[in-house]
Amino acid sequence: MTLFIVGGAGYIGSHMVKLAHLAGHKVITLDNLSTGHRDAVLYGAFEYCDIQDANRLNELFKKYTPDAVMHFSAYSLVGESMSDPYKYYNNNTVGTLNLLKAMIDNDCKNFIFSSTAAVFGNPEYIPIDEKHPKNPINPYGKSKLMIEQMLEDFDSAYGLKYVVFRYFNAAGHDESGELTERHDPETHLLPLIMQTVRGEREAISIYGNDYDTKDGTCVRDYIHVNDLSRVHLQGVEYLMSGDVDSKVYNLGNGEGFSVKEIIEKVKEITGKDFKVIEDERRAGDPDTLIASSQRAKDELGFKPEVDRVEDIIKTLV
Ligand code: UDP
Repeated sequence: MTLFIVGGAGYIGSHMVKLAHLAGHKVITLDNLSTGHRDAVLYGAFEYCDIQDANRLNELFKKYTPDAVMHFSAYSLVGESMSDPYKYYNNNTVGTLNLLKAMIDNDCKNFIFSSTAAVFGNPEYIPIDEKHPKNPINPYGKSKLMIEQMLEDFDSAYGLKYVVFRYFNAAGHDESGELTERHDPETHLLPLIMQTVRGEREAISIYGNDYDTKDGTCVRDYIHVNDLSRVHLQGVEYLMSGDVDSKVYNLGNGEGFSVKEIIEKVKEITGKDFKVIEDERRAGDPDTLIASSQRAKDELGFKPEVDRVEDIIKTLV
């Protein structure tokens, strides 16, 4: 298959590029390098492209005639989306609309979309399955939910087929050490803890200790980035297998760990102690997010390989 990996220079995208290439597909990364890194694209072709640029998209669709598009190119910081919602609606929602238009105009009708647990908001029950009501509490989650809604209409009207994957907390690195997570500035819990372990930061802050959880800190479901990437390949193979229906899947390991538990596990695994500060809540954080991935297991054969949080942390050490 010829695959466009939009956002292939980013954290999850670069892992996807590697796996898709190793699986024998022709991979083309499209990225505007706003948050990604050119040197993270280790396989396949690279084409500079901003998804807001319709002419450039059309040119690239004509040049490569891809079988499917995998779309990872989004801003994804909950806190930033609260203070700068325009950035999120413009890139995530408007940008994706533009990408979908280019797909339809160029008769490419297979789409894999990175969505998020943030579409659910505060859970009404745990674990969160695909039928759970969607009430996002931050612009990031709203910007992605709008795309999910557009996709339903694009399927009905234009026959665009899609698999939406809603990630819980993507974490870990490729075990080869070739690929890492390089956000600048870094805001995610595990990479920040690892910076603290290495002495690059003085302390790790816990954002809020008065949530309605076992120890008052937010609970999240961590899933290894390569397990995510593997199931994306299963998703694209499903789409290419013929006359199939569009699908939506939640992806996590089905187990929740609080911020305090994660900090303790990193201390145990690394044998290093470090300073922890109990800080204010960060705006827009739901208290608990734990996935049910039963549908992805039953229908796609999703089978996480690095499913213990300890093993995910070990890939970072
Ligand atoms: N978090 C924290 N300190 C940090 C970074 C994150 O306490 O320095 C918390 C954050 O409030 C959330 C959880 O860790 O409850 C996971 O945050 P992250 O940004 O890694 O992922 P998100 O859940 O926002 O996708």
